[in-house]
Amino acid sequence: MTVSYVLAKSADGGSLAHGEIVALLRLPPEAPDAYRVLSEASRISRSLSGNRSEVHAQFALNLSPCPEDCAFCSFAAGNGVFRDRWTIAPEDAQAVARRLEADGANAVFLMTVANFDFGEFLEISREVRRALRPETVLIANVGDRTEREALRLREAGFHGVYHALRLREGSDTRIPPERRWRSIEAFREAGLVVGTCVEPVGPEHSNDEIAEAIRFAAGFDPAYSGAARRITVPGSPLAAHGMISELRMAQVVAVTRLATPWSVVGNCTHEPCTLGAIAGANLFWAESGANPRDTKANTEEGRGRDVAWCASLFRETDWAVLEGPSAFYRKAQRDVPAAVRR
Ligand code: SF4
Repeated sequence: MTVSYVLAKSADGGSLAHGEIVALLRLPPEAPDAYRVLSEASRISRSLSGNRSEVHAQFALNLSPCPEDCAFCSFAAGNGVFRDRWTIAPEDAQAVARRLEADGANAVFLMTVANFDFGEFLEISREVRRALRPETVLIANVGDRTEREALRLREAGFHGVYHALRLREGSDTRIPPERRWRSIEAFREAGLVVGTCVEPVGPEHSNDEIAEAIRFAAGFDPAYSGAARRITVPGSPLAAHGMISELRMAQVVAVTRLATPWSVVGNCTHEPCTLGAIAGANLFWAESGANPRDTKANTEEGRGRDVAWCASLFRETDWAVLEGPSAFYRKAQRDVPAAVRR
């Protein structure tokens, strides 16, 4: 199987088989053929989204050690990074959300540690919703939920959620993969638009594992898919593996674009970087407050980047940045634009 064959198949909008995805992932990231993959993913991504990228902004409503103990997360109790517990005051949450809205975020994400009290989350969320413009897209990034709870998220004013079946779910985490699938189904049943990502990719993951994750994400027609690398949490069990390079991450982002149906317009990466944008990423996240990839309780003093910085990376790579509410989360089933086809 040649790279030309796989690229031609993806250029027809054909879904890629597991072996074809693996063939693209297997390329050395610095090889000329790998750059062809980046280039083609960029072409398709820019065509599908009209060359408009998006910047979403996430902030945490609480911080506490999490019993789910995901090996890659700085909130995990077992990683021992954070001992403090705090919950943001509703008026402070409103102020942060308004600031992110004013900064130009296309969607505002409210995140909690997985075991945060759901009732309290809804209460704060309603306050935040009241503080934002009606058209601002509000997204929940929370733990696993039932369909009944998913409906309550909608009632609280959420348009969608972020949820992912993480790589090695159930072995690097204490969460059975089935629980993640069921949550995604529950969100969709409740009418919430689900965004997802292939994450957190590390050098320990085989191309087979990554390909399987790409196909899982592509299979439920999310608002966006994409890929994000695992950031080393010092002292965590995964730290010994190190991290993949930005170039390898860009390759995975590009392959994800090529292997994902064209009804999925968004293609995310995290953390934001120009290489990701060159590889067809059209969604970055700005972050504020606690961040599961950071050892600083306030990520603005650490790894987190603001909306302006993310937008500037897109502009440096000749992407326009959408103004106004997220188009990805306004997803409706639609035909593939003719302009994408060669
Ligand atoms: S990723 Fe989520 S579920 Fe896992 S430890 Fe971190 S907060 Fe808990």
